[in-house]
Amino acid sequence: ATPMSVMVGVGRGAQLGVLVKNAEALERMEKVDAVVVDKTGTLTVGKPKVVALKAFNGRSEDEVLRLAASLERASEHPLATAIVQEARARELTLVEPAGVESPAGKGILGTVEGHAVAVGHAAFMSEHGIHTDHHTGVAEGYRREGATAVFVAVDGRAAGLVAIADPVKDTTEAALQALARDGVRVVMITGDNRTTALAVAKRLGITEVEAEVLPGRKAEMVQRLRQEGHVVAMAGDGVNDAPALAVADVGIAMGTGTDIAMESAGITLLKGDLAGIAHARGLSRATMANIR
Ligand code: ADP
Ligand code: MG
Repeated sequence: ATPMSVMVGVGRGAQLGVLVKNAEALERMEKVDAVVVDKTGTLTVGKPKVVALKAFNGRSEDEVLRLAASLERASEHPLATAIVQEARARELTLVEPAGVESPAGKGILGTVEGHAVAVGHAAFMSEHGIHTDHHTGVAEGYRREGATAVFVAVDGRAAGLVAIADPVKDTTEAALQALARDGVRVVMITGDNRTTALAVAKRLGITEVEAEVLPGRKAEMVQRLRQEGHVVAMAGDGVNDAPALAVADVGIAMGTGTDIAMESAGITLLKGDLAGIAHARGLSRATMANIR
């Protein structure tokens, strides 16, 4: 590649909020015919809020929220931030958790004021012998609205259910339509629950959805599409997206996301605006036409 035309492309990109870290990413972008997009923080704003809360077994909502938020202070997950913010909004006094463990894509557990507390999805609860079956109906209702249902358990029993919703970015729908017009295959991938993922996908006209994907498997899914012959771009924001960003033909990180995602990607969209994907394709075409 002629360094000059690539430099011009990189410069134009910067003006559009598309930061190109490596030239190959820009060169390959014109050939991309499949884009894998993470849901939380990529299609959505990534600033989820608590929209509903239920307490079970005689506990109060504030009690459940205080225990959950005390534990989630130890996590940087967007869902954790939402829970902590809701507790602060209710002026609850949070305490220091102990013995915290936070398996990626599952949830968090530890000790709060001598109680064993766990916060996470239903499968994570059952891994720890906590039954949530009685509350499946309520959880499914939240999910059908596109919210994520997070369970709170105290001392081995389900104590509450938190619904957390993250609005879709204003720019997402138009950006996806542009890709569809270009004949690009779009696949949504998320660690979140299937019902929640489908509700969000439906709103956006996305028909291919891979939900409940554990962090390690995101990279595998990208590899599978590449083996099918696709030139694949992966767009993501989180720590759990980093391996998939690294194995994609083009990794596209959200500038609003984690540092590790940006380090693993060839392109960063400064404001997280997915229109940058189409911009990058346009720049790639112009750059490569110049070289040829
Ligand atoms: P995504 O792929 O959409 O960015 P993640 O893989 O980070 O989502 O998380 C998958 C699921 O794991 C979440 O929807 C949530 O149910 C659960 N989870 C992960 N981390 C936490 C946490 N700190 N607190 C509560 N739930 C969590
Ligand atoms: Mg994410």
